[in-house]
Amino acid sequence: MAEIIQHFIDGQEQAGTSGRLADVFDPATGEATKQVAMASTQDVETAIAAAAEAFKTWRYTPALRRARVMFRFNELLIEHHDELAGLITAEHGKTFSDAQGEVTRGREVVEFACGITHLQKGEYSENVGTNVDSYSLRQPLGVCAGITPFNFPVMVPMWMYPIAIACGNTFVLKPSEKDPSASLLMAKLLKQAGLPDGVFNVVNGDKEAVDTLLTDPRIAAVSFVGSTPIAEYIYQTGSHHGKRVQALGGAKNHMIVMPDADLEQAADALMGAAYGSAGERCMAISVAVTVGDAADKLLQILEPKIRNLKVGPGLDPEAEMGPLVTAQHFDKVHSYVDLGVEEGADLKVDGRGLKLQGYEDGYFLGPCLFDNVETDMRIYNEEIFGPVLSVVRRDDFEGAMKVIDEHEYGNGTAIFTRDGEAARTFAERVQVGMVGINVPIPVPMAFHSFGGWKRSIFGSHGVHGTEGIHFYTALKTVTSRWPTGIRSGAEFVMPTMK
Ligand code: NAD
Repeated sequence: MAEIIQHFIDGQEQAGTSGRLADVFDPATGEATKQVAMASTQDVETAIAAAAEAFKTWRYTPALRRARVMFRFNELLIEHHDELAGLITAEHGKTFSDAQGEVTRGREVVEFACGITHLQKGEYSENVGTNVDSYSLRQPLGVCAGITPFNFPVMVPMWMYPIAIACGNTFVLKPSEKDPSASLLMAKLLKQAGLPDGVFNVVNGDKEAVDTLLTDPRIAAVSFVGSTPIAEYIYQTGSHHGKRVQALGGAKNHMIVMPDADLEQAADALMGAAYGSAGERCMAISVAVTVGDAADKLLQILEPKIRNLKVGPGLDPEAEMGPLVTAQHFDKVHSYVDLGVEEGADLKVDGRGLKLQGYEDGYFLGPCLFDNVETDMRIYNEEIFGPVLSVVRRDDFEGAMKVIDEHEYGNGTAIFTRDGEAARTFAERVQVGMVGINVPIPVPMAFHSFGGWKRSIFGSHGVHGTEGIHFYTALKTVTSRWPTGIRSGAEFVMPTMK
């Protein structure tokens, strides 16, 4: 009997009421290794009720005590670091060292949340009028929900719940049904760290669970990370039901390679950014925009590196790239490579047909490289989310910038150059939320905020950093006076300072 991954509600693992189960696969072997319970509306409502009840006391728990839970949680995450990384590799497929990096980047948000006593402080002004003082507070919202994608099963939930909880909210997480195990372990570690039951809950499932979270009046705020069509749906439905919503969507990240760049360095950067995690990163570089004569020289360096890239199961320490997450996703990415050929792009490196001995049923696709990709091709416009890099050639810097600015997505971007003026102009003018200068994957640290522009985000707040604190709190400003016998009578005009 395969292990069944359950829900975690009110401090307990629970089987749920739906009776529906979905298979969870090991992408390296193609085997269904576990099953996951799919929540019914009733299961989600039970989790929301537990979170609403827990909010009544958690919101008044002093920030110092909330911070101490985060400190203990951080210690437990260090202790269970490799266990979490192992769960990621087993269900997502990424290499173990990459999974370890993911856990560390997620844990950095917990470290940030440990500073909540300082981060949630308000402001105070005395004598905004004669004997009138004013102060602001940042108060928790209530029950917050998180809906997360398959590609970072530890880090992306951690963009959300440590900050939400540290701010005094309670939380219901609906992780990806493709790799749900890590969320259950995180829930158990939070309980071990002393978090009261009901403050953090996990419901596994699909649209039924998500729609309940989006419409239940007890949910105050929804954080979503995933593909753009679903992000847009989440934003519209959640907002329609009166919730605060942040919904981060898909991406097509471009890297400009200027002719003056260190091309060896640029090629190495492209290797990691395009093929790391099999391209299943929202900050992966999927388009290299070469300027002038950079293209031919870059390709000469890049092509052999791509051909030599080591593809293998995530637990093989030699592997640089693992399999894709599911058979369906493999088919989708594979069909994009077929489409690129039909559309007339030059397939310089063809990763189709890769078979690994002993892993014939795994979802392995070798790295692919297209040259001479045009901006009206579907392989250029659509997010492929696999190990497929496109090269778009432009004559000059302005033309390269225009390519990026005209794309519907605006998550991340980078420029490789030795020219400070070009780099500065790029950073100042490009219509993208996260910019790297000679840094291919400019993912902001936990104490800064993460978020794209254009159709890579719906809603006005990014995640973690100050944006995270602001998203998970409501601003209240109090103006107070303690009159002692002074009577000035009724005032009918707008109060102003004289
Ligand atoms: P997805 O949109 O398919 O799923 C994300 C979540 O939404 C999952 O929990 C899933 O169960 C749920 N969901 C799926 N279909 C739904 C529906 N019809 N109604 C309600 N809920 C639904 O995304 P994915 O394939 O898991 O993840 C990959 C995508 O996530 C890529 O597009 C990637 O760019 C994006 N992503 C973006 C960021 C970012 O920061 N912008 C970060 C990571 C991933």
